[in-house]
Amino acid sequence: MKYDVCIIGAGPGGIFAAYEFAEKSGLKVAVFEEGSTLEKRHCPIDGKTIKSCISCKTCSIMNGFGGAGAFSDGKYNITNDFGGNLYEYIGRDKALELMHYVDEINLQYGGAGTALYSTAGTALKKKCMQNKLTLLDAAVRHLGTDKNYIVLGNLYEELKDKIDFYFNTPVIRLEKTDKEFRVVTQGQEYTCDQCIVSVGRSGSHWLEDVCREMKIPTSSNRVDLGVRVEIPAEIFSHITDELYESKIVYRTDKYEDNVRTFCMNPRGIVVTENTNGIITVNGHSFEDENKKTDNTNFALLVSKHFSLPFKDSNGYGESIARLSNMLGGGVIVQRFGDLERGRRSTQKRIDECTVRPTLNATPGDLSLVLPKRILDGIIEMIYALDKIAPGTANDDTLLYGVEVKFYNMNVQVDEHLETRYPGMYVIGDGSGVTHSLSHASASGVYVADRIIEGGN
Ligand SMILES: Cc1cc2nc3c(=O)[nH]c(=O)nc-3n(C[C@H](O)[C@H](O)[C@H](O)COP(=O)(O)OP(=O)(O)OC[C@H]3O[C@@H](n4cnc5c(N)ncnc54)[C@H](O)[C@@H]3O)c2cc1C
Repeated sequence: MKYDVCIIGAGPGGIFAAYEFAEKSGLKVAVFEEGSTLEKRHCPIDGKTIKSCISCKTCSIMNGFGGAGAFSDGKYNITNDFGGNLYEYIGRDKALELMHYVDEINLQYGGAGTALYSTAGTALKKKCMQNKLTLLDAAVRHLGTDKNYIVLGNLYEELKDKIDFYFNTPVIRLEKTDKEFRVVTQGQEYTCDQCIVSVGRSGSHWLEDVCREMKIPTSSNRVDLGVRVEIPAEIFSHITDELYESKIVYRTDKYEDNVRTFCMNPRGIVVTENTNGIITVNGHSFEDENKKTDNTNFALLVSKHFSLPFKDSNGYGESIARLSNMLGGGVIVQRFGDLERGRRSTQKRIDECTVRPTLNATPGDLSLVLPKRILDGIIEMIYALDKIAPGTANDDTLLYGVEVKFYNMNVQVDEHLETRYPGMYVIGDGSGVTHSLSHASASGVYVADRIIEGGN
């Protein structure tokens, strides 16, 4: 079977590339996706018979139409300040233009009426500056879990008759022949003139193999480590009501490290995440009023970059998470007051706490897990946040650990996101260039437009 373009991966990067081809070209395009169609994506955890991850062969949360963010809260950040480095490749104006373009499409396909929050002109920005904190600039479209799902469903309806989708079809090998690319799946081979690889984080090991075999240079990246903070929602309500999610950065006095807030969940819950058997912590929030809680949670993260000879930044993050799993049997929770007094939290102290934990974690001591430098930075940041949201540094503030944010390796691509093989592009989170819905989607549009315009 011969195609003009093959796209590997139906996450936001692959979907928006496919959308461009369908709407603006007559090219024959196929999308190969390891997971299922949207409606067939079901995680077996039901909280009753199956309470934790059973390591399905293909994970319904990470794989399938919509990719990793399909069941997410759908926070669509329009900014060059975080979410990836797409602007370094295609320029700041172009990156923002494409993020706005994708936002318009999301609105057109079911997202209309959702709130767009913005940091522009907020009083918080000044207050942050006065307290050694930096509020990063962004407009945030909060689609919410339900609308995010509707948008994806409508996009699939639009595309399904114009693009050949192959679901439950992992690409096993990708090869370059003299004239074209060969895409090999279980028992089938397809050829194409141009190929867009958009396999996200879940496809990172596969992409590593492809890059090794095709001699495409890669470099190691970073890992972010920290804790998830849980406080009464009222403490942060003046911030979350106005901005929903704010990315705030603090430069520590002691080491001049940057600590930042990440993934804020107003009136949300703290959850565990299972990555290859390693339990880490994360957070969720819901649109549905009935599911909202009395607490707000957010992560405080410190980035660790490594230099040679050490290359395995993700391995480092995994080891720290394993240590917390060894001590706590999973996620550890500690009161801020206990951490400050150098003692572990006990079940009794957690039971007496005025903040009711939304996750049933093991009371323990995070100082036995996180490196001192990282923990010192987190403590400093909590006191800095206390100045803009008094109450953050209360003894009863809960800290869950560890939260780890893994990054993909950087695949060497040029300013067109093209590899050393003309016609082979690597986009989205799999490339290491992006790590958000908006940047990944924009990268798909960018590359598809270039191919349509005959840029190759
Ligand atoms: C729980 C959760 C919540 C999130 N919430 C947000 C949020 O609110 N805002 C935000 O900006 N970001 C969020 N993110 C991150 C966001 O989802 C990703 O940045 C984004 O999905 C990346 O898009 P992508 O297309 O590059 O990759 P992905 O979305 O990961 O899609 C890649 C696809 O490729 C497929 N694939 C992999 N290997 C192969 C192969 N060999 N053959 C065929 N198919 C393959 C996978 O099955 C997958 O469907 C969240 C992520 C998670 C996990």
